[in-house]
Amino acid sequence: MKQLTVELGERSYPIWIGPGVIEQLPRLLEEAGIDSGRKLFIVTDEHVAPLYLDQTKSQLQDAGYMVYHSVVEAGEKAKSLAVYERVMTEALEAGLDRKSAFLALGGGVVGDLAGFAAATYMRGVAFVQIPTTLLAHDSSVGGKVAVNHPLGKNIIGAFHQPRLVAYDTEFLKTLPPREVAAGFAEVIKHGLIWDETFVTWLEQNAEGLQRFEHDLLQEALLRACSVKVAVVSEDEKERGLRAILNLGHTFGHAFEALCGYETLNHGEAVSIGMVAAAMLAERLGIASGISARTRHILEKYRLPVMLPHAMNADEIIEAMRRDKKGEGGKLVFVLPTAIGKVEIRKDVAEEPVREVLRALQE
Ligand code: NAD
Ligand code: MG
Repeated sequence: MKQLTVELGERSYPIWIGPGVIEQLPRLLEEAGIDSGRKLFIVTDEHVAPLYLDQTKSQLQDAGYMVYHSVVEAGEKAKSLAVYERVMTEALEAGLDRKSAFLALGGGVVGDLAGFAAATYMRGVAFVQIPTTLLAHDSSVGGKVAVNHPLGKNIIGAFHQPRLVAYDTEFLKTLPPREVAAGFAEVIKHGLIWDETFVTWLEQNAEGLQRFEHDLLQEALLRACSVKVAVVSEDEKERGLRAILNLGHTFGHAFEALCGYETLNHGEAVSIGMVAAAMLAERLGIASGISARTRHILEKYRLPVMLPHAMNADEIIEAMRRDKKGEGGKLVFVLPTAIGKVEIRKDVAEEPVREVLRALQE
């Protein structure tokens, strides 16, 4: 079990990663100032509940906590105002008060939903992340919480840092292969934006990591989370630096949206997006020789590096101009200048973008 700390003054918190973290949960809660005797409200989804809810609940009940739970549908649909309202109703019925805490047991969907519930219940109560997907190494750290609106993803949200992230790597064993690959896309992204030695290590350990060897998995999550922690500690509210976490995301969000979120999941879309960003950087002359290596590492983790079917370049560019991270319809990209280094480029011309989009469909 390894620990990292997100340094945010009085909002600082630990991230514990490793096999068996869940058995330490009562002690970790006490250390985070959430004492036994309090009410805890676990939010989880219909896939995770049958696997890990009983075990988690009984650990906590044995330690003297009063534990309630809500099981939401699996998938992005649960990040809705309707499901949020239902969770709030159940929390009120359970009699949660200002000293109670919400616990998210699941992937990024449950984390974002439970986090937003915690941020707004009685104007904000304690929140704990218990991530169960690989992708959630990204979503559980940093305090962004949100639900979706039919007119936009993550558009109703808040910054609400957890008191603790308890990441039990044993939970990851039951993840479907496609979710594993999608999670690795964001792990690789953390290397590509910040740390070339981590990228090399990921290249060398691709087989062992995909067999879920525990030491390797713990190390990979620790290093990926360290990048996120370093960025968030410097720029909690995304005023500047934090935007680099969006490598591959301007392209990725457009690909996802135009595929109707079915053909490509988020990690897969970001994978193709990171290849696109590397190619664009080469075309703009700010980097050289990086797209081949970017493609190669993603392929090692069974991620797509080309668009799955023909897509209209005008529609992709239109979607990218609308991206909520964009500014006044300009094309804004996080572009690699080398493996492990990126910069933000605003107002990129359309033609090189079109060339990259053509090359991704050949
Ligand atoms: P998810 O939460 O939907 O989980 C993926 C699937 O795996 C679901 O079907 C889930 O039921 C299942 N699952 C979860 N854990 C499992 C386990 N241990 N064994 C078997 N099945 C399991 O999706 P995700 O990929 O974890 O997260 C995606 C969400 O995260 C998106 O909504 C995205 O917006 C959000 N996100 C948020 C941030 C942030 O900073 N807040 C960052 C990145 C992504
Ligand atoms: Mg992402």
